Amino acid sequence: MVFEQIGSMGHEQVVYCHNKDAGLKAIIAVHNTVLGPALGGLRMWPYKTEQDALNDVLRLSRGMTYKAAVAGLNLGGGKGVIIGDPSKDKSEALFRAFGRFVNSQGGRYITAEDVGTDVNDMEYVMRETQFVTGVHQTHGGSGDPSPFTAFGTLQGILASLNLKYGHEDVGKFSYAVQGVGHVGFELARLLREHNAKVFVTDINRQAVQRAVDELGCEAVGLDDIYDVDAEVYAPCALGGTVNKDTIPRLKCKIICGAANNQLATDECGDEVERRGLLYAPDYAVNAGGLMNVSIELEGYDRERALRMMRSIYYNVGTIFKIAKRDQIASWKAADRMAQERIDAIGKIKLPWMGNAPLRFQGRR
Ligand code: NAD
Repeated sequence: MVFEQIGSMGHEQVVYCHNKDAGLKAIIAVHNTVLGPALGGLRMWPYKTEQDALNDVLRLSRGMTYKAAVAGLNLGGGKGVIIGDPSKDKSEALFRAFGRFVNSQGGRYITAEDVGTDVNDMEYVMRETQFVTGVHQTHGGSGDPSPFTAFGTLQGILASLNLKYGHEDVGKFSYAVQGVGHVGFELARLLREHNAKVFVTDINRQAVQRAVDELGCEAVGLDDIYDVDAEVYAPCALGGTVNKDTIPRLKCKIICGAANNQLATDECGDEVERRGLLYAPDYAVNAGGLMNVSIELEGYDRERALRMMRSIYYNVGTIFKIAKRDQIASWKAADRMAQERIDAIGKIKLPWMGNAPLRFQGRR
């Protein structure tokens, strides 16, 4: 059963990690290492069943393969999950025990923070392994990725405007930003710097008020964001907001935001396309966070990070070109771009040549 599931999704390796004393029950999934070591965050979640945890880690690790491939990184896809409640079950021993399992992978899997884990947890992981990113800045870490993710999202918007309208004059268009948290607020700020009209909504009223007061955004109701007359809808809160109920309401011409898994289903991606909306695939647009931590591996450099974020413009543009070339929806074109790169690079890697070693130059 497990092998069938792993095989059907194309994973290379799944490691079950257990330490009774530390209370560790974790799974590491390495999906694909053709392009490089598998990097992906460590999620801590009170999964109801072990099967739920396995499903999640398999799905998330495969997603990381595609994200890294489209981002042009020399990284594969992997993910870790710890079964537990992050509000109650965290301890130094737990994360150090996990770190020892990561270390035993010899660099095939590199971990980072994710839902339920933070920079402090990564500090414990780091006591046991160098194969961890997202550590504190004093250890050569990259810090909060959100401003970079927002800047990367803006690059995706520019590429989308270019295709749809033939120019990238950001200030000439209006935007509906759903969620003004870490990324959404920064994105709204960047858009307002161009004097664009920006509508915002959030379940957190204070966050909305801050965007209104500090940035001059216009607040709209939670459910009204889909009906707003704006050229660009930028989901920056939850996944699944582009669904069968919202699609008929959308007045925008472009969907481009930072949220993960924006399309409720693949069919929704096809439907969006049929209606003439341009969808900039989420994992290409929001790759800024991954790019940022990837730079930690060779010594973090802010300028280099910003340069890398700009490549999102090119990546999103390439996806649109593939969609046109193959007459397919953009969500499918993104997967195709990833697979084409994995296949092409896989063919130049002859087994006797080995891979370039990881450098980890930035660590102190
Ligand atoms: P965040 O938690 O700081 O912000 C999310 C905001 O959305 C919060 O203010 C929250 O109140 C709001 N929200 C939640 N439900 C909502 C709803 N139903 N309607 C409107 N607003 C709602 O998270 P973030 O770091 O800004 O990330 C935003 C999205 O981008 C997430 O989907 C995340 O997975 C994705 N993402 C973030 C990064 C990053 O660098 N932070 C990188 C890649 C992807």
